[in-house]
Amino acid sequence: MYKIYTNSQFSSIRFTDFDRFKGHYLQLGFDNTKNYTIFDHSLPKGIQWEDVLLSTSSSVKCFLDQFFKFLEELKDFYTNLADIDELCYVVQPLRPSTKENWRIFKLKDRVFVKIVLDPFTSSPVNLNLYGPTYEVESLRSILSEGLKNWDTEMDVHANLLRTFELTYFPMVNEGTEECCNICYCYQLEEHVPFISCDNRSCSLVYHAICLKEWFTTLADGKVFLDVSFGACPFCKTKLSTTFADMLK
Ligand SMILES: [Zn+2]
Ligand SMILES: [Zn+2]
Repeated sequence: MYKIYTNSQFSSIRFTDFDRFKGHYLQLGFDNTKNYTIFDHSLPKGIQWEDVLLSTSSSVKCFLDQFFKFLEELKDFYTNLADIDELCYVVQPLRPSTKENWRIFKLKDRVFVKIVLDPFTSSPVNLNLYGPTYEVESLRSILSEGLKNWDTEMDVHANLLRTFELTYFPMVNEGTEECCNICYCYQLEEHVPFISCDNRSCSLVYHAICLKEWFTTLADGKVFLDVSFGACPFCKTKLSTTFADMLK
């Protein structure tokens, strides 16, 4: 079962509220020559779904069948992401949709991991770390070992725990969220603050967007291979991070 919506000219049709695939939708359009186009869909970003759909489908039924086939194939991918959402403290995306294939979650105090999943293999396309240099540098080798020994028979959450030799990841304690020390709020648009500087005794955190803005005011700030180098607005200690990766 699902719902169908059309516009008043009947030039577009939207399928949504599928029983088996919550949150998903497919919207088709018809051009003047009655050829199909794909207006919108809920599949993960980064793959040319449109090309495959258009090349394999010649009727509305074909489109839906192919769409359902994709969703069947993506079941493990979505289960893996749902596990991370449930069992980790995810700081970004704040309200994940079916389109995101990545999560940023807390690994330990001041350190966060970004995982980007491949929709078809559920193994990571990329693993990255955010946190003070002294933490991140020592974790880099652990991360690359984890990627090398990734067990595709195991789910993603279990692989991540094994990589970091943990039994569970830290979860947030309600009421202990720290505000950004630039804008003084916790949630700003779709962001929460989790970037901190290299000073072990400075406990302040910042939103990536606020910090990026702040870095543009620095005379000696620089960017090298996607990494932005600057200083903590409060204690002036070195702070480097990859905004491009975080604010995409
Ligand atoms: Zn802020
Ligand atoms: Zn600081």
